[in-house]
Amino acid sequence: MKLKDEKDRLSYKNIWVLVEFTSEGTVHSATFELLGAARKLADDSGCEVWAVSLKANRAQTSPLLISYGADTVLEIEDKRFEGFNDELECSALERLVRKYRPDILLGAATVRGRALIPRLASKLHTGLTADCTGLEIDRETGELLQTRPAFGGNIIATIRCRDFRPQMATVRPKVMKVSEPNAERTGRVISETLAADDFLKIKQIVETVAETQSTVSLGDARVIVSGGRAMKGPEGFKLLEALAERLGGAVGASRAAVDNGWIAYPHQVGQTGQTVQADVYISCGISGQIQHLVGMQSCRTIIAIDTDDTTPMMQMADIAVKGDLFEIIPEIIKELDKTGNGKGGFEA
Ligand SMILES: Cc1cc2nc3c(=O)[nH]c(=O)nc-3n(C[C@H](O)[C@H](O)[C@H](O)COP(=O)(O)OP(=O)(O)OC[C@H]3O[C@@H](n4cnc5c(N)ncnc54)[C@H](O)[C@@H]3O)c2cc1C
Repeated sequence: MKLKDEKDRLSYKNIWVLVEFTSEGTVHSATFELLGAARKLADDSGCEVWAVSLKANRAQTSPLLISYGADTVLEIEDKRFEGFNDELECSALERLVRKYRPDILLGAATVRGRALIPRLASKLHTGLTADCTGLEIDRETGELLQTRPAFGGNIIATIRCRDFRPQMATVRPKVMKVSEPNAERTGRVISETLAADDFLKIKQIVETVAETQSTVSLGDARVIVSGGRAMKGPEGFKLLEALAERLGGAVGASRAAVDNGWIAYPHQVGQTGQTVQADVYISCGISGQIQHLVGMQSCRTIIAIDTDDTTPMMQMADIAVKGDLFEIIPEIIKELDKTGNGKGGFEA
């Protein structure tokens, strides 16, 4: 929606977070991450956070959303939201946006979010910055500064949407940290209903097929042992598996290792792989190009092992160990076995 003048600009208020539900009907963890980010932005700009929830007949989620930072929950509860119909959701959201005029609208860059949010931006004729790694309010203009890697990750761009509203951005799960919930927080709930116009009848859901669970749960792992080109082959990854097993962790990889066919794609960390937020990330022979760093830089403690201490990974690591990983990792494993610490009971 193109801004006409300053008065029009001021008519847009508040920050919306689109609530995403898992296929089991619980609130997706990415929603809590976004609520935390939105709360900080709202505190900086003196506005409200609205959680916008389109749901079928699910349990009451409003108190939960309020405890994670929402001031207002705007909801439509209707059994026709069962499953996922991006046309229906988009149509209902477009109507709500035109009615309540949010200044900023944030959503999760999940599979559903990637189907729904660009569609919504196009309907509203506004810009969308996908896969942001940072969000801030410009104190001078009040505009949203949306930071994301660009040109294959070779530069970090900060994008603003000057002339259109709402300012829309998506963030990948695990990029932002979840804030502690506060059960004492209070807020209001606005209930809306579906309108006859929301049914475009273009698409009909015939069958829903459950997603095949990946055996690699990097997203939830507390400890990740990740290997790069230096692993030299699949055998090298067996060493990392042995270490990860002792630490109760999962194995990650750089794209170089995946492209070489040494380990499967679901293990890849980075811009075109998974984004992770482990307590401990142990990088073994990964130089730390920006496309890798964007996927793991939010990990709490980063340990890097590399023969070259000038690499970006070694420079940004909390603990940088210079040396040959094929000597160092067997020593760590030996030590863990000796002390009995490596029984999956690793404490970060
Ligand atoms: C559009 C695009 C998207 C991309 N997406 C991703 C992505 O999602 N994830 C990703 O990882 N990459 C991605 N890349 C690739 C990225 O740019 C790098 O090429 C890649 O991350 C390099 O992998 P690496 O660090 O394992 O290899 P290298 O850069 O070759 O680093 C190997 C490191 O191992 C060290 N080393 C060598 N031998 C030893 C030893 N014996 N002991 C200890 N250290 C040793 C070296 O000193 C070096 O630092 C992408 C690139 C593009 C263009």
